[in-house]
Amino acid sequence: MVTAAMKQVKMKTASPASSLDPYRIKQDFPVLQQQSNGRPLVYLDSANTSQKPQCVIDAINKFYAHDNANIHRGVYDLSIRATKAYENARGTIAKFVGASRPEEIIFVRGTTEAINLVAQTFVRNRVGQGDEILVTAMEHHSNIVPWQIVCQQTGAVLKVAPINDAGEIILDAYREKLTAKTKFVAMTHVSNALGTVNPIAKMIELAHEKDIPVLVDGAQAAPHIPINVSELGCDFYTVSSHKMFGPTGVGALYGRLDLLNAMPPYQGGGDMILSVTFEHTTYNEVPYKFEAGTPHIAGAIGFAAAAQYILDIGFDKLIAYEHELLDYATKSLATIPEVRMIGTAAEKVSVLSFVLDGVHPHDVGTILDQQGIAIRTGHHCAQPIMDRFDVPATIRASLAIYNTKEDIDALAASLKNVMEVFR
Ligand code: PMP
Repeated sequence: MVTAAMKQVKMKTASPASSLDPYRIKQDFPVLQQQSNGRPLVYLDSANTSQKPQCVIDAINKFYAHDNANIHRGVYDLSIRATKAYENARGTIAKFVGASRPEEIIFVRGTTEAINLVAQTFVRNRVGQGDEILVTAMEHHSNIVPWQIVCQQTGAVLKVAPINDAGEIILDAYREKLTAKTKFVAMTHVSNALGTVNPIAKMIELAHEKDIPVLVDGAQAAPHIPINVSELGCDFYTVSSHKMFGPTGVGALYGRLDLLNAMPPYQGGGDMILSVTFEHTTYNEVPYKFEAGTPHIAGAIGFAAAAQYILDIGFDKLIAYEHELLDYATKSLATIPEVRMIGTAAEKVSVLSFVLDGVHPHDVGTILDQQGIAIRTGHHCAQPIMDRFDVPATIRASLAIYNTKEDIDALAASLKNVMEVFR
């Protein structure tokens, strides 16, 4: 399975198919150097949250050990250093997502907060009774519920673009759903439950042909696919640090500067103002207008260290290796007759979501845990996808650059053991 992004990068590079050394990469991640239930830990739950390399841990430690102070307020050296580190982090994230200016990056708690911010400060003011907000059938709950809330507040209607049995968007049906009533489109770049990579460039283009603004949920794309919001031309793009080797509790919203400038603040408080009297408040400029209160300063710094870690490895190597690993894993699971893969898109990254005929996913999770293998079982915060495929839950193994073929072999061997018990 080769995605369009992979083909693009492959064309750009002359290096051999895969020169990333996952054993070397694994050494960067202290948490992976341990045993779980008496076996070497096999971590296959990176779509849930990824592990953190030493450089990210060091960046956070260094901040607290040497530079900790509040930002944007102090006149003293420490505060100036902390402010610089925080604003440099914004610059790194801007570079990571291909934003043309750091002001287009708002630090938030993660993708969930980013989507809620856009829902309440952009979309809510632009929709009314009978207007439509379009999502796809493969969204995470955090790209469904904020829109349902806006619909309840305004009388707008949530529409859903369908997917086919492989878990791919049906482009013709999507096109048909873009009507004069559609006021906003929100879509995931990569599905967390299926691994599908959406053709977002085409989907954005189709929406923009009708002047409909678009938000892309990039939570699952960021650690696997190079993002260039300027080339994509999307209006909003969201990422979560913890999915891309950074700390939890921080993420970024990219927004087009003209849109951000025109939007009202999301929350009120310190730092988002220029002046306050009891009669009137003047808001700060973008991005500070959207960052009320003391932000997760160390988090932003760790987040930037994680983004830089990925950029230093290089997406060309990363994509080639992950493609090879996903292919290996897909073939390996196909040797188990009871495995039924949910999500078989031609354009896919990092996720193997499946059911084992005759065994409840939670039982599989528990048995695998006893063998040191961490996978996720459940609905993956995407219940509509489970309904679409008529399963209550799936077993999901999700891959990252620190996973090796041995990890996959351990998974396949354990699944075979499970089937011997249940057959
Ligand atoms: N969207 C997708 C596709 C996700 O996978 C997730 C996390 N599982 C989210 C949104 C929510 O991200 P967060 O919990 O970091 O806010």
